[in-house]
Amino acid sequence: MNKIPVFYNPAMVVEIDLESPSPKKPREVVTEWKQNYPIEVIDFVPLREEDFCLAHTTEHVRGIISLRIANGMDTRHQEVVDSLYWTTASFYHAAEHALQYGVAVSPTSGFHHAGHDFSWGFCTFNGLLIAAVKMLNKSQVRRIGIIDFDYHQGDGSEDIIARLALGDRISHRTGKIHYTREKQAFFQELPALLESLKDVDILFYQAGADQHENDPLGGFLNNAEMRERDVQVFRFSKDHGIPIVWNLAGGYQEERTEQGRCIQKVLDIHNATMEACMGIYLNNPV
Ligand SMILES: [Zn+2]
Repeated sequence: MNKIPVFYNPAMVVEIDLESPSPKKPREVVTEWKQNYPIEVIDFVPLREEDFCLAHTTEHVRGIISLRIANGMDTRHQEVVDSLYWTTASFYHAAEHALQYGVAVSPTSGFHHAGHDFSWGFCTFNGLLIAAVKMLNKSQVRRIGIIDFDYHQGDGSEDIIARLALGDRISHRTGKIHYTREKQAFFQELPALLESLKDVDILFYQAGADQHENDPLGGFLNNAEMRERDVQVFRFSKDHGIPIVWNLAGGYQEERTEQGRCIQKVLDIHNATMEACMGIYLNNPV
């Protein structure tokens, strides 16, 4: 492999200002990656309402789409709803690509707090579980592993797995021990956490930037430790020949400047994840 595939379409981006900077992050991160790394940007078609219903109740989906129910940003912006068809599709198509070629990236956030019939915490629909159910239904995949290293608990993912009785086909790992803020314990547990996933057919990896110790909503790992986290995950997937799709998830370090909000520190963390991925998956990493 000479380039890392990244599933991006501008329709993923929400242009209006929201409490979380993440809905604007896809364009910012892809702009940096295009300038600095050998990536291949791949376009895709959006998902449909019926796909959302694979992981969510029809009533909840209809409520969100019709703006009757507030989205995960706790607003009723049509722009947020419009982006959901594309962000969930980015993850799904990246996952299908990874299954075939080994690795792919979806520059997305805002999935893991979305439950079967609820949306909160900057998450409206759960792109992880929508992609998982869609792939399991096509039956070329028997088991999926989700490594959720966003700092916060993937309560929405856990809710959907429980309510759809998917526990024997989806192994959900959150590294709960990280809530203790004990970085030594996190790295002691990591090999066993990864080893428990060695029989899955594909890994979904949320490489959350809010595990960083400077994150205002997280975290407990410094720059070198964040990189070590990523390297261990990618080395595990490569060594075991398990396809891996990864995304961005949370990250809230930002500076307010005259030009607006600057999330360069978050972008730097995602850049480091891309470098770790390139180092392990590219034949000639730059
Ligand atoms: Zn988070």
